[in-house]
Amino acid sequence: MARYTGAVCRLCRREATKLFLKGAKCASDRCPLEKRNFPPGMHGKDRKAKIVGYGLQLHEKQKAKRMYFTLESQFRAYYEKANQAAGVTGELLIQQLERRLDNVAFRLGFALSRRQARQVVRHGHVEVNGRKVNIPSYQVNAGDEIKVRDAAKKLVIIEQGVQYAAQNPVPAWLEANFENLSGRVLHLPKRQDVNLPINEQLIVELYSK
Ligand code: SF4
Repeated sequence: MARYTGAVCRLCRREATKLFLKGAKCASDRCPLEKRNFPPGMHGKDRKAKIVGYGLQLHEKQKAKRMYFTLESQFRAYYEKANQAAGVTGELLIQQLERRLDNVAFRLGFALSRRQARQVVRHGHVEVNGRKVNIPSYQVNAGDEIKVRDAAKKLVIIEQGVQYAAQNPVPAWLEANFENLSGRVLHLPKRQDVNLPINEQLIVELYSK
């Protein structure tokens, strides 16, 4: 499947927002956005146009899509599903993104970023309810037990992820056990459980045109 393979920090600079794609570096002063908070490219510094209307909606969608590292087609499918379900479309959209197994693996400290967590899942290092699952977009459910498989417990990438995650709060909808490298879904995420700077209403407005 096609996937963005360029420099991820450029994505943050394009959105003028921290997308947290590089783990510990994102929280440090080594984050390029700290010093170069302007769009990438030769004329990035000179672009001062205020974004309004459609541009703002597009910008918000790109930001969310890049934060969760999904492709346009997949992101659109999440919207369609949310739009057809009963409830607030924007919240249901965020819920589906948050329930992705790669995101949950990241939240539980199995990697330093969602991008790394995708690799951890892809390589078969994670199991859900005792069964290996290597599909990053797999949707977890309330009550699911998520665990690093025994063979992967000593991987450096996972040890680093746990150290980083143990210093940060775990979202209220998840329970993490950093010693066992495991976690549990307490309930499906509500909007207030997701502390990301996304205005999902703008995304809904964009897609519902
Ligand atoms: Fe974005 Fe992290 Fe790179 Fe900073 S370090 S620009 S937050 S990916």
